[in-house]
Amino acid sequence: MNVKPTSAPELDQIASAVDAWSLDAACAYADDPDVFFSDVKDPERIRHARTVCRDCPVIDPCLLEAVSRPKSQDVGVRACTVPEERSTMRARGLGRCDPERVERVLAGARGHLSPAERDLAVVRTIQLGLPAERLARALDIQLPYARRKIADERRAIALRAATNPGRPRRRAREAA
Ligand code: SF4
Repeated sequence: MNVKPTSAPELDQIASAVDAWSLDAACAYADDPDVFFSDVKDPERIRHARTVCRDCPVIDPCLLEAVSRPKSQDVGVRACTVPEERSTMRARGLGRCDPERVERVLAGARGHLSPAERDLAVVRTIQLGLPAERLARALDIQLPYARRKIADERRAIALRAATNPGRPRRRAREAA
């Protein structure tokens, strides 16, 4: 299955979401940061990068963002995967993430959301202030389960905001 390339507005939307979670990215402080952001083929460097990802608290949104990118803009180790593995995920539709599709389904359109899109639907429900009933219908789940998903995501957002150790270190890094 081919995946629709992510449009520029969608990438902007993803980029603003990225900014929130990327403050917690373990790779921002890795001793070999290039392996995460460039086309590195050295198996030893890739193996080490995967170990960094395994302990990263934002591995899920990282993978979501990486597979949402067009193949031409997808480089480096991300969320324990290399670009070739993410291409396979896209080809199988596992990583498909179309923000417009998510919003259409949340608005009531019929459609099957991929795992990544289901995660995004929870985030968009919170961001747009939608009732839990909309999420329950979009994901075809029971209302209490939808409420629990929303509550879990709110807790995760609050926790990241309250205990974000990356922010000052990132600023210091940027200032250096
Ligand atoms: S999962 Fe890996 S690539 Fe993604 S933010 Fe974390 S450390 Fe960086």
